[in-house]
Amino acid sequence: MTSRLRSHALYQRAAQVIPGGVNSPVRSWKGVGGEPFFVVRGQGSRVWDADGNVYIDYVCSWGPLILGHAHPRVVEAVAHALSRGTSFGMPTEAEVALAEAICQAIPSVEMVRLVNSGTEATMSALRLARTVTGRPKVIKFAGGYHGHADAFLVRAGSGALTLGVPDSAGVPPSVAQDTLVAPYNDLERVEHLFSAFPEEIAGVIVEPVAGNMGVVLPKPGFLEGLRSLTRRYGALLIFDEVITGFRLCYGGAQNLFNVQPDITCLGKIIGGGLPVGAYGGPREVMSQVAPLGPMYQAGTLSGNPLAVSAGLATLEVLREPGTYQRLDALGARLEEGLREAAAEVEVPLVVNRIGSMLSLFFTTEPVENWEG
Ligand code: PLP
Repeated sequence: MTSRLRSHALYQRAAQVIPGGVNSPVRSWKGVGGEPFFVVRGQGSRVWDADGNVYIDYVCSWGPLILGHAHPRVVEAVAHALSRGTSFGMPTEAEVALAEAICQAIPSVEMVRLVNSGTEATMSALRLARTVTGRPKVIKFAGGYHGHADAFLVRAGSGALTLGVPDSAGVPPSVAQDTLVAPYNDLERVEHLFSAFPEEIAGVIVEPVAGNMGVVLPKPGFLEGLRSLTRRYGALLIFDEVITGFRLCYGGAQNLFNVQPDITCLGKIIGGGLPVGAYGGPREVMSQVAPLGPMYQAGTLSGNPLAVSAGLATLEVLREPGTYQRLDALGARLEEGLREAAAEVEVPLVVNRIGSMLSLFFTTEPVENWEG
């Protein structure tokens, strides 16, 4: 058996000083049992742990490392930026270049604000939707994840209207009551919520391809339906593209599905493995953000030069011809292998895949939302 003695010792140490020994609960292996191993380095598709074991890394830091570990172009860009200083609290040209690259790639985004994480992006996007509409409520989808801001740590309650209830200790019921929850791919329920609260809903937030309940694709017409319902009721449509941004094509999933949201949230890939998030939209909407407008949002390290340089280098590589075809081919190969393996041992398997986003469900039924 593989030795993990060093990892085990590190985990024991970590558990003394860090809750659960990890800085994000998904790293704890609580869902699958066992103990996390501690990583020493990564290169390409491989990571090495503290005991010298090597693994193929299908996690890729949960999305940012679309180019794999320590891609030479990213390493070079960060090293170059590092030699000039780590943070200035004043603007730098690289921030402008990343913002321009995002605006060029995603037509619905005319202006963008860089932040430090996907959580900051979605939290700010909700504040922006509330600013623009003057309304308090938001609709999210069961099984969707939009970071750990209070308003999103909410699950469906039992009421007919699916009023939200806190999904974490510390989230006040008064906050949860402004989050309404509908099943993914269920336009009827969304319409029902709008007709119950026609003047109170500031926006609908959705992962255009759900990635946090396993991969679930939007049914034909779902995103278009959200677009027309939000328009009809004067609410904003927020696409949380923290996973899907630059993942399925150069731009957002919105480029693929041809549905333009009012606000787009980004993260992960645009930081190339360093902490970056972003939210953006049409000039008119983004003009509400301070210092242009009344909505306050700020960050000491926002637009950090190292993070921005890693993001820019990543986007430059992704922009090269053939990148997404290659990712799609790799995804297809993995899907095929998994299907064959399942068939061989007669395990029922559904694989939901789009490009390089893929997950497995041990069932024979199609999986279209959190419920099944
Ligand atoms: N939105 C989506 C769709 C995500 O998958 C995540 C994180 O996995 C977030 C938001 C939050 O991003 P972060 O972990 O950078 O705060």
